[in-house]
Amino acid sequence: RTVYVNGEYLPETEAKVSIFDRGFLMADAVYEVTSVLDGKLIDFDGHAVRLKRSLDELEMAEPCSQQELLEIHRKLVDLNGIVAGLVYLQVTRGSDGDRDFVFPAADTPPSLVLFTQSKPSLADSPESKRGAKIISIEDIRWGRRDIKTVQLLYPSMGKMMAKKAGCDDAWMIEDGYVTEGTSNNAYFVKNGKIVTRPLSNDILHGITRKAVLRLAQEAQMEVEERLFTIDEAKTADEAFTTSASAFVMPVVEIDGATLGDGTPGPIARRLREIYLDEARKTAI
Ligand code: PMP
Repeated sequence: RTVYVNGEYLPETEAKVSIFDRGFLMADAVYEVTSVLDGKLIDFDGHAVRLKRSLDELEMAEPCSQQELLEIHRKLVDLNGIVAGLVYLQVTRGSDGDRDFVFPAADTPPSLVLFTQSKPSLADSPESKRGAKIISIEDIRWGRRDIKTVQLLYPSMGKMMAKKAGCDDAWMIEDGYVTEGTSNNAYFVKNGKIVTRPLSNDILHGITRKAVLRLAQEAQMEVEERLFTIDEAKTADEAFTTSASAFVMPVVEIDGATLGDGTPGPIARRLREIYLDEARKTAI
């Protein structure tokens, strides 16, 4: 696999960053994940805009222009022959060659790393056909979940807790209300109405969330953005999650309770279809 690191395209085994890089020492870094279908990037602009916002919130410099980022994405997709898969982009605050809590001088160059993952069955994964099983766990992450940082330890632990329970993923709960999934936004459907938590600093502002809510409204589906409990979701007609890497993922079980008849619900399936259709049409 060819990867990109600070201006160079290299075999993955030759790509290097400093051991003093703050991404490594302090999780002082942000990232983005853009999916690829038919060799093209889905919603690249959305991801580029959110990256800029994450960098601004952390007073980190932009590593390069949006146009250059697009060119790097495209070149990696090309060099690695990605038809369906993901492009990961990581930006760290870099390093001035030592460890210190204080940020290095503002002119310290950030580190920029991109790599691809080929996933031929991205658009028709087995999980999307059978639906995901979810457990709920407490949300003990920090208070700026709207910034897409690489602090993924707790989400990673949540995913492991789900696996140990024989499930696929975990939804997190704070102050009695569902925040989001370990790596996706969370929704349930009751009497035809789609319910999801409103945007705030408590959740990541999903790029897929934005597109799916717009498409749902265009398809005359009813959408309500409000706080909701796990019990509401457990007794819903159906549920689903959204993310750039899994699109619209039906949920068929929450904390052992089966939703509907235990198969992906009609609204989740329809939204998945509408989303994939439009994503393919607007990919660049
Ligand atoms: N919430 C969290 C915590 C996530 O990690 C992700 C995926 N990166 C999402 C939501 C979904 O965001 P997007 O649709 O932009 O992938």
